[in-house]
Amino acid sequence: MVTEKQWQQKLSGEECPLCDDPSKGMAMVGDLGITCAYLQKSASFRGYCVLVLKRHAVELDDLSTEERSALMEDITRVTSAVRQVCKPRKINYEILGNMVPHVHVHIIPRYEADPAWDRAAWFALPDEASLTDEDYSLLASQMSAAMVG
Ligand SMILES: [Zn+2]
Repeated sequence: MVTEKQWQQKLSGEECPLCDDPSKGMAMVGDLGITCAYLQKSASFRGYCVLVLKRHAVELDDLSTEERSALMEDITRVTSAVRQVCKPRKINYEILGNMVPHVHVHIIPRYEADPAWDRAAWFALPDEASLTDEDYSLLASQMSAAMVG
């Protein structure tokens, strides 16, 4: 349970994990307009990226109109790269932030055979298998190249 004081600290950006280390050990595959894209190691949701705003902000209405437009462009660039490289059946977009209140977008490719096709990916993500290091490196370079093109 987060106390109100702890919550206010999180909102202010104090000790914010995404300000401190937005990569969380994941490969950055795109340094975009106002965000950076980090490739997750998920095997079933191959190409899953988290897009992290470069500055601390909590809600979409904390962003300027220009920032919101740029965010949508960044989401679209990641989407195009994921579609080009991974050819998913559908893309899911999720903005949550009650655990980490710093604007970030989960861009989750969905596949017919993924372990939670008919549900939100979160039902399967906690015990999801990881890509091998070799496959992850290859996918990261493919995603980086697609993000530029
Ligand atoms: Zn932050």
